[in-house]
Amino acid sequence: RTVYVNGDYVPEAEAKVSVFDRGFLFADGVYEVTSVLDGKLIDFDGHAKRLERSLGELEIGVPLSREDLLEVHRQLIARNELTDGLIYLQITRGAADRDFIYPAADTPQTVVLFTQAKPGLADSPVARTGLKVISIDDIRWGRRDIKTVQLLYPSMGKMMAKAAGADDAWMVEDGVVTEGTSNNAYIVKNGKIITRHLGTEILHGITRAAVLRFAREAQMEVEERAFSIEEAQDADEAFITSASSFVTPVVEIDGATVGTGKPGFVATRLREIYLDESRKKSV
Ligand code: PMP
Repeated sequence: RTVYVNGDYVPEAEAKVSVFDRGFLFADGVYEVTSVLDGKLIDFDGHAKRLERSLGELEIGVPLSREDLLEVHRQLIARNELTDGLIYLQITRGAADRDFIYPAADTPQTVVLFTQAKPGLADSPVARTGLKVISIDDIRWGRRDIKTVQLLYPSMGKMMAKAAGADDAWMVEDGVVTEGTSNNAYIVKNGKIITRHLGTEILHGITRAAVLRFAREAQMEVEERAFSIEEAQDADEAFITSASSFVTPVVEIDGATVGTGKPGFVATRLREIYLDESRKKSV
């Protein structure tokens, strides 16, 4: 693979960042994952906007304009002949001698982007069978709206799910679901789509925003509020959204079958609409 590091396109074996990088030492950095279908970016603008917001919340400078960022994404797609897959982007506060105090504001940020090829990304078999999730306590920090690279707990959550024979975990705080380890969580009851309201407790998913917009345009009813695991187990359908999974049905929660145990009508329809509409607007 050809990867991008601080202005250069280099073979991955030659790509280097400092051992003093604050991303490495303090998880002092943010990231984005944008999907690529047919060689084009899905909702690039949404990801670029959220990136700028994450950087702003952490007072990390913005090292590239939106136009330059788009150009880097396009170069990586071209140089790696990427058809279907993901582009991972990470920006950290840069390298400086280890100190809790931030380094001087003129310290150059570290910018890394690489591609991950995922042939058939849009027709993954799990979209037809549905996912099994378990619930775990949400013990992450309180600013989950900032997309930081502190992903140890979500990673542990996926391992807990795997050990339990499930695919993923939904995190629970104060008796209600916040979100999945790397996705937003939804249920459907009597035709109504229910998903947690925005706040600092969850990541403001770019896919979430698009899916809710498409749902409303299609006259589907949407309610943004928290729900419990019990309510989810009793729902007609459940599903998740993320840039890499689009809309994917959930058919089992903590061993209890959701609805018929098969992907539901609403989740299936929303997946089709999301893929169709996002492809039309892809860049
Ligand atoms: N919540 C969390 C915790 C995530 O890590 C992600 C994916 N990065 C999402 C939600 C979904 O966000 P998006 O739709 O922007 O991929």
